[in-house]
Amino acid sequence: MFDIQKVRNDFPLLQNTIYKRPVVYLDNAATTQKPRIVIDNTAEYLSKYNSNIHRGVHYLSEKMTEAYESARQTVKNFIGAAHHHEIIFTSGTTESINLVAFSFGEAFVEAGDEIVVSQMEHHSNIVPWQMLCERKNAHLKVLPITYTGELNMTALTSVVTNRTKLIAITHVSNSLGTINPIKEMIQFAHARSIPVLIDGAQGIQHQPVNVQELDCDFYVFSGHKIYGPTGIGVLYGKEKWLEKMPPYKGGGDMIKTVTFEKTIYNDLPFKFEAGTTNFIGAVGLATALRYLNDIGRADILKYEEELYSYALQKMQTIDYVRIIGTAEHKTSIISFLLQNIHPFDTGMMLDKMDIAVRTGNHCTQPLMKFFGIEGTVRVSFAFYNTIEEVDYLVESLKKVKQLFS
Ligand code: PMP
Repeated sequence: MFDIQKVRNDFPLLQNTIYKRPVVYLDNAATTQKPRIVIDNTAEYLSKYNSNIHRGVHYLSEKMTEAYESARQTVKNFIGAAHHHEIIFTSGTTESINLVAFSFGEAFVEAGDEIVVSQMEHHSNIVPWQMLCERKNAHLKVLPITYTGELNMTALTSVVTNRTKLIAITHVSNSLGTINPIKEMIQFAHARSIPVLIDGAQGIQHQPVNVQELDCDFYVFSGHKIYGPTGIGVLYGKEKWLEKMPPYKGGGDMIKTVTFEKTIYNDLPFKFEAGTTNFIGAVGLATALRYLNDIGRADILKYEEELYSYALQKMQTIDYVRIIGTAEHKTSIISFLLQNIHPFDTGMMLDKMDIAVRTGNHCTQPLMKFFGIEGTVRVSFAFYNTIEEVDYLVESLKKVKQLFS
């Protein structure tokens, strides 16, 4: 069974006192803390096996290559991909989306074509598509949302046209916590032969993900948001697309042969992994995923759901809290405003009470514009947070309110 105290003991940072008490870390959507096993395993590989992968014949290089390719296998199994070569290691969600925007764009997007994103996307899932559209003279179209913070699915039929080349949508909104109906979206798109990219930066750690069941064409996420190291991320792509997409970066490892006249590119997945990759990060990410599996994904998700409903229900009962985003299906994130208090001031005061939250527009300026606000206070949970921490947050919000009035 899920043992919260044992889980908390696995995370060294959670034991640290910042001012007066151990930190109440509620900024997990920005980045998650790392379990000791990830820290130790990363240090072990650095101190015992560090060596560049793929190119060496010596023991260390073989060991490191083996660990890197086994990490790819771990990711493949974690998301239920059909083939290991459909897993491309990148530096994170941002790079994964840029890779697809560039490379898919080169292969499939022409002047007059359209890319569809939604009103609630993170800048990372807007700007790369905008850059593609500028390059190709294509158009970026926006699927509207409702005031509850849900995708307006009925608008799909007018936003998506026979010029739509790809739909890019977030699994879970990093500003609202909305869980989008991605399966329905993918079915709608596939009925029109349109591929779909899912931004899983906030989805993978809080929702079960099986890319074959979802049938998504691309699924991207960052290691650091799922208890792994920074600087490592994943692009899952269906073989049928990745095979047809040109490389995004040129350099070592992505080639079979090079002459000044012509270069023959390597096979998948190496075609998209130019230069020295973050092999230590990949091993750290795989360790994090195995750690989650060992605890039990189902138990983690169940605990998270209980904690989240408790927090949401508590926050909803405070009359001076305005929650932004009231979708029916939400997870892990609560964005809110305290009446007449600037989000920044709320965040600063909470910090002094040892509570780490994020304030601002959360890299979703178009979404903030839609709600007519500059930003919010965002609390975001992980499975190491507790009911007691939620109670402490609620008490502290009361204090903030009192101090400002
Ligand atoms: N998409 C979403 C929904 C996110 O929450 C984030 C991170 N805040 C990103 C993309 C970008 O992730 P990264 O900075 O790790 O590349």
